[in-house]
Amino acid sequence: MYDVIVIGAGPAGSTAAKTMAEGGRKVLLAERCRLPRYKSCSGVLIKKTMDLVEAYFGEKTPALAQCTPADNRGMVFTNDRGREYRFEQEGLNVWRSSFDHWLAGKAQQCGALLLDGVSAVKCQEEAGTVRVTFRKEKTWTEEAEYVLDCEGVTGSVKKGITGEFPEYITTFQTFNRGKIGLDPHYFYAYLQPELSEYDAWFNVKDDLLVLGVSGRNRERLPFYYERFLSYMGERHGLKITKRLKGEKWLMPHIRPGCPITYGKGRILFAGEAAGFLNPMGEGISAGMESAYHAACAVMQCGSCPEEVLADYAARTEPLTGYMKRQWDLVAGMAETFSEMRTGG
Ligand SMILES: Cc1cc2nc3c(=O)[nH]c(=O)nc-3n(C[C@H](O)[C@H](O)[C@H](O)COP(=O)(O)OP(=O)(O)OC[C@H]3O[C@@H](n4cnc5c(N)ncnc54)[C@H](O)[C@@H]3O)c2cc1C
Repeated sequence: MYDVIVIGAGPAGSTAAKTMAEGGRKVLLAERCRLPRYKSCSGVLIKKTMDLVEAYFGEKTPALAQCTPADNRGMVFTNDRGREYRFEQEGLNVWRSSFDHWLAGKAQQCGALLLDGVSAVKCQEEAGTVRVTFRKEKTWTEEAEYVLDCEGVTGSVKKGITGEFPEYITTFQTFNRGKIGLDPHYFYAYLQPELSEYDAWFNVKDDLLVLGVSGRNRERLPFYYERFLSYMGERHGLKITKRLKGEKWLMPHIRPGCPITYGKGRILFAGEAAGFLNPMGEGISAGMESAYHAACAVMQCGSCPEEVLADYAARTEPLTGYMKRQWDLVAGMAETFSEMRTGG
């Protein structure tokens, strides 16, 4: 019997597990993939994320998780009329596999039992506990007072609990050798509707040029990707000598009002599984912050599940406010996101 079972060792799950293990709780952190696991990501830690890492993990992100150029100096947005906006801000360029592995190791050092290569397949609440069914080579169950579901975008366990079928954005990005006339210290986002259904982006990781496009209709991604390459060639002198790999992934499609699913009974959701994601796919900070608050709510009000959920929602009010303001800002830059205007 655990106090808490955490599903998923991404930034949300590891933050929750570390916080609760440090608070003296008996925690099981279960991760479907073998660690270090791969996660498609631009790997930009904004200043807020860097601060959260220090606040929750007591250390700065180590050099072993960083890639070159290590310092990200901000974001450059091009709006739907081709106008550029520059947001200068300190940030860090990391490989997600190393960064997330480091976070999970910190949770383990604080006493959480970390099991990797283990999938949660079902959660069932009964008589004051939650029974979680796991699968590795065989199937078995574990019990806990609470479950924190931090399984990320696909939310397959969550679907079984809420019956909700989330909407997705598909991302496609490639890693390339080549040349471009852009400063590698910035993350570039392009909001023109002719280049993607959602956004397109460029950044540099260990001298590789990363180019991506995204949209609701995955069939159209190759079309947008080719257009984006031509645009970057004409506008910034992009020349690719070798494409090393291409990958598709999913992001939650955030809807107007940024609805969050906090949980049901003794099962709480955090990170992307709850619906936390900022524009341009910036989700590490929201994942860590939401999971930290969920963990604090469980530790503070654990005897009453209704109070835990209410406390969790109250603690994340500033975070949801921040998320809405970020989406409103992007809505002001491109018609694609006009439905996200808050009128604020
Ligand atoms: C192309 C792309 C680029 C991005 N770039 C950035 C960026 O530069 N900066 C940024 O801040 N964010 C970025 N994001 C978003 C960011 O990756 C996510 O928001 C963040 O990882 C969410 O954290 P999480 O812990 O909620 O979920 P995840 O990081 O997805 O972690 C969930 C974990 O749960 C595990 N899991 C899933 N199901 C189960 C199960 N049934 N049992 C056990 N384990 C399970 C998964 O294997 C995974 O390890 C990007 C996303 C994409 C797709």
